[in-house]
Amino acid sequence: MEHRPNKRVERKSSRTNTRNVQPHAHDSYRHDRKTKHAIVCDECGVVFHGGRWYWGAPPLGDEEGGLCPACARIRDGYPAGSIELKDVPDTLRDEVLRMIRNVEDQEKDEHPLERLMEVEERDGMLVATTTGTHLPRCIAGALRRRFHDGVAIRYPDGEGLVRVMWEA
Ligand SMILES: [Zn+2]
Repeated sequence: MEHRPNKRVERKSSRTNTRNVQPHAHDSYRHDRKTKHAIVCDECGVVFHGGRWYWGAPPLGDEEGGLCPACARIRDGYPAGSIELKDVPDTLRDEVLRMIRNVEDQEKDEHPLERLMEVEERDGMLVATTTGTHLPRCIAGALRRRFHDGVAIRYPDGEGLVRVMWEA
Protein backbone atom coordinates (compact mmCIF):
# COMPACT_ATOMS: atom_id res chain seq x y z
CA MET A 1 0.00 0.00 0.00
CA GLU A 2 3.01 2.35 -0.08
CA HIS A 3 2.51 3.23 -3.71
CA ARG A 4 -0.42 5.50 -3.88
CA PRO A 5 -0.56 7.47 -7.07
CA ASN A 6 -2.00 10.88 -6.60
CA LYS A 7 -5.40 10.38 -8.18
CA ARG A 8 -6.80 13.62 -6.91
CA VAL A 9 -4.81 15.65 -9.37
CA GLU A 10 -6.22 13.69 -12.29
CA ARG A 11 -9.69 14.01 -10.90
CA LYS A 12 -9.61 17.77 -10.80
CA SER A 13 -8.62 18.11 -14.41
CA SER A 14 -11.06 15.53 -15.74
CA ARG A 15 -14.03 16.99 -13.93
CA THR A 16 -14.47 19.80 -16.38
CA ASN A 17 -15.50 17.22 -18.96
CA THR A 18 -18.47 15.87 -17.06
CA ARG A 19 -21.14 18.06 -18.50
CA ASN A 20 -21.99 16.47 -21.78
CA VAL A 21 -21.16 12.91 -20.95
CA GLN A 22 -24.14 10.62 -21.20
CA PRO A 23 -24.70 8.20 -18.37
CA HIS A 24 -23.59 4.70 -19.14
CA ALA A 25 -24.22 1.50 -17.27
CA HIS A 26 -22.55 -1.17 -19.36
CA ASP A 27 -18.87 -0.68 -19.44
CA SER A 28 -15.53 -1.42 -17.98
CA TYR A 29 -16.28 -0.02 -14.54
CA ARG A 30 -17.71 -3.30 -13.40
CA HIS A 31 -15.33 -5.25 -11.29
CA ASP A 32 -15.43 -8.86 -12.36
CA ARG A 33 -11.80 -9.34 -11.59
CA LYS A 34 -11.10 -12.64 -9.92
CA THR A 35 -8.59 -12.13 -7.19
CA LYS A 36 -7.83 -13.96 -4.03
CA HIS A 37 -6.59 -10.75 -2.49
CA ALA A 38 -8.95 -8.18 -1.19
CA ILE A 39 -8.94 -4.83 -2.96
CA VAL A 40 -9.07 -1.70 -0.84
CA CYS A 41 -9.94 1.47 -2.74
CA ASP A 42 -7.14 4.03 -2.50
CA GLU A 43 -9.63 6.84 -2.56
CA CYS A 44 -12.57 5.92 -0.32
CA GLY A 45 -11.41 2.75 1.47
CA VAL A 46 -14.28 0.52 0.35
CA VAL A 47 -13.29 -3.17 0.26
CA PHE A 48 -13.80 -5.72 -2.52
CA HIS A 49 -13.78 -9.30 -1.33
CA GLY A 50 -15.80 -12.40 -2.05
CA GLY A 51 -17.30 -10.80 -5.15
CA ARG A 52 -18.76 -7.73 -3.51
CA TRP A 53 -17.88 -4.26 -2.29
CA TYR A 54 -18.49 -3.37 1.32
CA TRP A 55 -17.52 -0.84 3.97
CA GLY A 56 -15.34 -2.31 6.65
CA ALA A 57 -12.05 -4.02 7.25
CA PRO A 58 -10.46 -6.29 4.64
CA PRO A 59 -9.80 -9.88 5.71
CA LEU A 60 -6.35 -10.59 7.04
CA GLY A 61 -3.80 -11.26 4.37
CA ASP A 62 -2.55 -9.47 1.31
CA GLU A 63 -4.56 -6.67 -0.10
CA GLU A 64 -4.25 -4.71 -3.28
CA GLY A 65 -4.83 -1.06 -3.91
CA GLY A 66 -6.78 0.37 -6.78
CA LEU A 67 -9.88 2.38 -7.37
CA CYS A 68 -13.40 1.16 -6.75
CA PRO A 69 -15.84 1.65 -9.67
CA ALA A 70 -17.49 4.60 -7.92
CA CYS A 71 -14.23 6.48 -7.42
CA ALA A 72 -13.13 5.59 -10.96
CA ARG A 73 -16.32 7.13 -12.33
CA ILE A 74 -15.86 10.23 -10.19
CA ARG A 75 -12.27 10.55 -11.39
CA ASP A 76 -13.31 10.17 -15.02
CA GLY A 77 -16.42 12.32 -14.73
CA TYR A 78 -18.42 9.40 -16.12
CA PRO A 79 -21.79 8.94 -14.39
CA ALA A 80 -23.78 5.70 -14.44
CA GLY A 81 -27.04 7.44 -13.71
CA SER A 82 -28.70 10.79 -13.35
CA ILE A 83 -31.91 12.32 -12.16
CA GLU A 84 -33.26 15.46 -13.79
CA LEU A 85 -35.69 17.60 -11.85
CA LYS A 86 -37.79 20.01 -13.84
CA ASP A 87 -39.83 22.93 -12.52
CA VAL A 88 -38.90 22.44 -8.89
CA PRO A 89 -40.79 25.19 -7.05
CA ASP A 90 -38.39 27.70 -5.47
CA THR A 91 -39.98 27.12 -2.09
CA LEU A 92 -39.13 23.41 -2.23
CA ARG A 93 -35.66 23.64 -3.66
CA ASP A 94 -33.73 23.45 -0.38
CA GLU A 95 -35.86 20.61 0.86
CA VAL A 96 -35.38 18.68 -2.37
CA LEU A 97 -31.62 19.18 -2.25
CA ARG A 98 -31.59 17.94 1.34
CA MET A 99 -33.64 14.91 0.36
CA ILE A 100 -31.19 14.03 -2.40
CA ARG A 101 -28.29 14.09 0.08
CA ASN A 102 -30.20 12.11 2.69
CA VAL A 103 -31.17 9.39 0.24
CA GLU A 104 -27.55 9.11 -0.84
CA ASP A 105 -26.42 8.80 2.79
CA GLN A 106 -28.81 5.94 3.44
CA GLU A 107 -28.26 4.19 0.14
CA LYS A 108 -24.49 4.32 0.19
CA ASP A 109 -24.36 2.62 3.60
CA GLU A 110 -25.77 -0.55 2.12
CA HIS A 111 -24.68 -0.13 -1.48
CA PRO A 112 -21.23 1.47 -1.38
CA LEU A 113 -21.07 2.05 -5.14
CA GLU A 114 -24.24 4.16 -5.21
CA ARG A 115 -23.05 7.72 -4.71
CA LEU A 116 -23.81 11.22 -5.82
CA MET A 117 -21.35 12.80 -8.20
CA GLU A 118 -22.57 16.32 -8.88
CA VAL A 119 -25.72 18.26 -8.23
CA GLU A 120 -26.03 21.22 -10.53
CA GLU A 121 -28.31 23.52 -12.45
CA ARG A 122 -28.38 22.60 -16.13
CA ASP A 123 -30.69 24.05 -18.78
CA GLY A 124 -33.07 25.25 -16.08
CA MET A 125 -33.21 21.82 -14.48
CA LEU A 126 -31.70 20.54 -11.30
CA VAL A 127 -29.53 17.59 -12.30
CA ALA A 128 -27.88 15.08 -9.98
CA THR A 129 -25.44 12.60 -11.49
CA THR A 130 -24.62 9.33 -9.73
CA THR A 131 -22.08 6.53 -9.78
CA GLY A 132 -24.78 3.84 -9.78
CA THR A 133 -28.01 3.27 -11.68
CA HIS A 134 -30.04 2.56 -8.56
CA LEU A 135 -29.65 5.83 -6.68
CA PRO A 136 -31.70 7.98 -9.11
CA ARG A 137 -34.61 5.56 -8.61
CA CYS A 138 -34.25 5.73 -4.85
CA ILE A 139 -34.34 9.52 -5.00
CA ALA A 140 -37.41 9.38 -7.25
CA GLY A 141 -39.08 7.02 -4.79
CA ALA A 142 -38.43 9.41 -1.91
CA LEU A 143 -39.84 12.32 -3.95
CA ARG A 144 -42.92 10.27 -4.76
CA ARG A 145 -43.50 9.46 -1.10
CA ARG A 146 -43.12 13.09 -0.14
CA PHE A 147 -44.95 14.84 -3.01
CA HIS A 148 -47.28 12.10 -4.29
CA ASP A 149 -49.09 13.19 -7.44
CA GLY A 150 -47.31 16.54 -7.36
CA VAL A 151 -44.54 14.96 -9.39
CA ALA A 152 -44.50 12.97 -12.61
CA ILE A 153 -41.70 10.43 -12.81
CA ARG A 154 -40.37 8.93 -16.04
CA TYR A 155 -37.69 6.38 -16.84
CA PRO A 156 -36.95 7.21 -20.47
CA ASP A 157 -34.21 4.66 -21.07
CA GLY A 158 -35.18 2.01 -18.55
CA GLU A 159 -31.73 2.37 -17.02
CA GLY A 160 -30.03 4.98 -14.95
CA LEU A 161 -31.85 8.07 -16.19
CA VAL A 162 -34.85 9.37 -14.28
CA ARG A 163 -36.86 12.50 -15.09
CA VAL A 164 -39.03 14.17 -12.50
CA MET A 165 -41.41 16.97 -13.42
CA TRP A 166 -43.32 19.04 -10.95
CA GLU A 167 -46.93 19.40 -11.93
CA ALA A 168 -48.13 22.97 -11.82
ZN1 LIG B 1 -13.52 4.22 -3.90
